[in-house]
Amino acid sequence: EVSNQSTESRLDDWLLVGLLSTEFDEQSCVSRYQSMLYRKPSPYNPSPYLVSKLRSYEALHKRCGPNSPLFKKSVEQLRTNHSTDQLDCNYVIWTPLGGLGNRMLTLASTFLYAILTNRVLLVNNATDFANLFCEPFPGSSWVLPLNFPVRNLDSYDASSEKSYGYLLKYKLISEDLRAQSIMLPSFVYVHLESSYIWDMYDQFFFCDDSQLVLGKINWLLVKSDVYFLPGLFMLSTFDEELSLMFPSKETVFHHLGRYLFQPSNSVWKLVMQYYHSYVEKANQVVGIQIRDFPWSLISKDNRFNQIINCGLKENILPPVRDHNRKTRYLSEDQTGTEAILVISLYKDYYDRMKSYYANSTRLNRTINVYQPTHEEAQQLKNLSHNKKALAEIYLLTFSDVMVTSAWSTFGYVSYSIAGIKPWILLSSKVSKEVIDPPCRQVRTLDPCFHVPPTINCKTKRRSKANQVGPHVRQCEDVNEGVKLV
Ligand code: GDP
Repeated sequence: EVSNQSTESRLDDWLLVGLLSTEFDEQSCVSRYQSMLYRKPSPYNPSPYLVSKLRSYEALHKRCGPNSPLFKKSVEQLRTNHSTDQLDCNYVIWTPLGGLGNRMLTLASTFLYAILTNRVLLVNNATDFANLFCEPFPGSSWVLPLNFPVRNLDSYDASSEKSYGYLLKYKLISEDLRAQSIMLPSFVYVHLESSYIWDMYDQFFFCDDSQLVLGKINWLLVKSDVYFLPGLFMLSTFDEELSLMFPSKETVFHHLGRYLFQPSNSVWKLVMQYYHSYVEKANQVVGIQIRDFPWSLISKDNRFNQIINCGLKENILPPVRDHNRKTRYLSEDQTGTEAILVISLYKDYYDRMKSYYANSTRLNRTINVYQPTHEEAQQLKNLSHNKKALAEIYLLTFSDVMVTSAWSTFGYVSYSIAGIKPWILLSSKVSKEVIDPPCRQVRTLDPCFHVPPTINCKTKRRSKANQVGPHVRQCEDVNEGVKLV
């Protein structure tokens, strides 16, 4: 529900906390000015230090962005094949991998890395991105120009000759700068795909010595499908800056996600269309995101039972018969309408939920079940599919209470941007049974880093102990994963 507070004063609040630059033209990106009208105000304010870092990042990006003379100079250096410390502008290029949720998580991770290392963030292969999100940095662009001299950036992998892990392994580069006899290359690829866990050398990215070396390289390319941001907190190199920027660690993605990812006007139109059809009139919106992965063994029947068990146990969903029970947000004597938003690829869960509540006239309020789309299958390079996915992520952020799915980055970005701690529907890779307990509320807002490094930077060996440091805890939904607290 749109708050009673006047639009202008809420806009002022939003801009005053300083997360967003005031330099933009409103019409070019309506969502930047409107999304806060539909969401509960964030209980978390960005620190003044983070705000100042964002403003200086924007200034750097404007100076060094594509088409600037300094960009051209750095591209000329790139062609010489070796790095120099004489450049004003150094870069990190992000290349997309995986679904939209994965992309948002890795792009935010790369952005934080850019801020911490004074690099300019550029986005490769942004054809679908350009249509999904507004440009985040005023007076410039984050899109890597098409005539960039290094080609086929998505084809880089762990065994590429420019891969940092490969260079280390074959001693073509040394982690010890003093021992560095050869000139450093102008361009290095950092392999942070989940498969990086198999190779110790790729994981050395998360060691201070490597950051010293990488810090001397003018152009970095990053490809990842995991939220590697918590790994930046294990480096003492960034410790001080990170504590100043984020006194509350669990809000890192909450702030960076809200800053970076403003839906483009055409996506915002979809969000508004869904909002007016499903959410606007409800007093209470329960967002349920149901993601079934191909490895899951559980049947649709058992999965639906799990969802209902979770909803009833946690008082998130109203019971059909016993209307004396309190739901979490509408008290029992409150009348009104409740919208249950079923966000899923499958229509099946919507049908089941709808028939489950077909008898809800027994309650003293109306329960409406909605599903904006049901695409049935994940598609990777389809713009209209991706627009719907992003619109649904945004629609979910307008919920009053959320239920999301274990392992799902789609769910992570939704709750973290919303600033709502959801109940996560747990899942098992081995069981076909209804899972018990069916769900667990997350303790912190941060998304889960599914594959944290397993190396010891001092001994340069593998280590079972979790190396990520004092700021992290095990994720609620993924045993091996960690998240910031
Ligand atoms: P994850 O696989 O759950 O971690 O999330 P990703 O977003 O990385 O990848 C899943 C992709 O499948 C999304 O980007 C969408 O393209 C699609 N998808 C998954 N769930 C939904 C959904 O509920 N609605 C829509 N529209 N698309 C979905």
